[in-house]
Amino acid sequence: MRIVLLGAPGSGKGTQAKILAAARNIPHISTGDMLRAAVAQGTRFGQKAQAIMEAGQLVSDEIMLGIIAERLAAPDAADGFILDGFPRTRQQAADLEELLDQLGVPLDAAILMDVDFDILMKRLTGRRTCSKTGKLLNVYFSPQAELDAVVEAGGELVQREDDNEETISNRLNVYREQTEPVVEFYRKRGRLTTVDAQGSIDEVNERLVGAVA
Ligand code: AMP
Repeated sequence: MRIVLLGAPGSGKGTQAKILAAARNIPHISTGDMLRAAVAQGTRFGQKAQAIMEAGQLVSDEIMLGIIAERLAAPDAADGFILDGFPRTRQQAADLEELLDQLGVPLDAAILMDVDFDILMKRLTGRRTCSKTGKLLNVYFSPQAELDAVVEAGGELVQREDDNEETISNRLNVYREQTEPVVEFYRKRGRLTTVDAQGSIDEVNERLVGAVA
């Protein structure tokens, strides 16, 4: 299965991609995670990427194509993959099409995770990670007992660098201007499936599994 998960920041792409990839035993390829790994390594590229990400802007299409071409050529992606966060511009969508043509493998589907704007904002501003376990939580949506358990176990609820209000608003604007054309790109080609991505993680997973079946 080769699929692209599309959706605004906070639509739950990452969460759902992880679950689906594990169930199908194929890699979850998140360009955001790959860039954050480069930032953590502190390379020169990582430092540049960090400044772009903290501003809520996009890393250049040319660099992203290089990153994704290398990743899709890795042996573990030979039998399928779930792309999360790529393509994010119309150019990236065209680049991906060309790349997959060269590899001789078609994309099975592009899935749009659809969420109302006010819920996106709460998901993004409320998102926290447990500093000890890496577990994802949300101060608006997670049960209070789960939030308390993190603190009781000596962990901290850490907010992602780019989840502050200013960066979130930039990321949502960038999504509207640069990534919504990607949705149109796949819609025009008759390859877009929209999934209602509101509700619990399990509910959305069920709808997603139904959409890719
Ligand atoms: P994400 O974790 O997918 O929300 O990505 C976090 C940040 O990484 C984005 O706000 C961008 O700055 C950068 N990024 C991730 N994927 C891409 C991409 N395909 N093209 C350009 N920038 C990206």
